[in-house]
Amino acid sequence: MENTDWSALGFDYHKTDWNVRYAYTDGRWSDMEVTQDEYIRMHMSASCLHYGLELFEGLKAFRGVDGKVRLFRVADNARRLISSAARLCLPLPTEQMIVDACIEVVKRNARYIPPYGTGASLYLRPVMFGTTAGLGVKPAKDALLIVYCSPVGAYFKSGIKPIMVALDREQDRAAPRGTGDVKVGGNYAASIYSSNNAHALGYSNVLYLDAAEHKFIEECGAANFFGIKDGKYITPKSPSILPSITNMSLRQVAQDMGLTVEQRPVPLEELSTFEECGACGTAAVISPIGKIFDMQTNEVYEFGSEVGKVSMELYTRLQDIQYGRSEDKYGWCTEID
Ligand SMILES: *Cc1c(COP(=O)(O)O)cnc(C)c1O
Repeated sequence: MENTDWSALGFDYHKTDWNVRYAYTDGRWSDMEVTQDEYIRMHMSASCLHYGLELFEGLKAFRGVDGKVRLFRVADNARRLISSAARLCLPLPTEQMIVDACIEVVKRNARYIPPYGTGASLYLRPVMFGTTAGLGVKPAKDALLIVYCSPVGAYFKSGIKPIMVALDREQDRAAPRGTGDVKVGGNYAASIYSSNNAHALGYSNVLYLDAAEHKFIEECGAANFFGIKDGKYITPKSPSILPSITNMSLRQVAQDMGLTVEQRPVPLEELSTFEECGACGTAAVISPIGKIFDMQTNEVYEFGSEVGKVSMELYTRLQDIQYGRSEDKYGWCTEID
């Protein structure tokens, strides 16, 4: 990895040396297996292939200003993985198994952790799926849990910049009482058509409304939404929103900045009252939104081409914790040596 141009890396799979796995068969989990094999051998009738019994996670390890490696909120990702597995009636791994696997993957692939100052980081992808062969729709008796990683570049190559978003009322991402609140591949299958359409029209993301009434803001692509106004950090609350760990962290940071945090239904009419708004998630931390275009009504919401002051401060404060530039008061980082 000596000659890698870390800053040029995108968000793509880049081969590393090791991945770790656990297999569930005959009612029990295997020990952790560490392998260099990038492939899996699976029956063509495996339940994940036919009935979407698949879930995943995404988290990052950062090389800090002090040279130490920090894994961000791994226990929270582990708990969310377990909640997704429970929702899909898959065997449940323990929090410890997942955390151990993530730490092992970071340690074994240390040479792929990008240097401090490049904006790049090591992205970890835990993925789990049912592997039982069969035709009928029923819970899988067997499963595989894999954690692998890939170095990824800074989300914004030339500094954090507002994005353009398309509001889509013709496609919904997730239904109330569906699986929107768990991180399963099925939600992505449901949204790929609308996001592909938005990309083709030059937008980087889709803003989804609640599927029942199309009155409330839900999510921004595969990221949570937040708006800023009158000293408040406002983020939608709905049973079909994925509980973003970045959003959870930003709510705490916002509170520390003296903002009032509101997590409640956000009606679409409120959009024009926000001073700033953005999308948040592990990939970019914050993607400030510059413009939202309603594809059905042609209505446009403008927030400017510069990053808002509050969004910028939220972004910087959270990155300061991730890169070890400020105190980790809440114990979000796991240092790895
Ligand atoms: C993963 C994901 C997010 C972001 O969650 P983080 O934990 O902050 O990365 C938001 N929305 C959806 C639909 C997601 O899948």
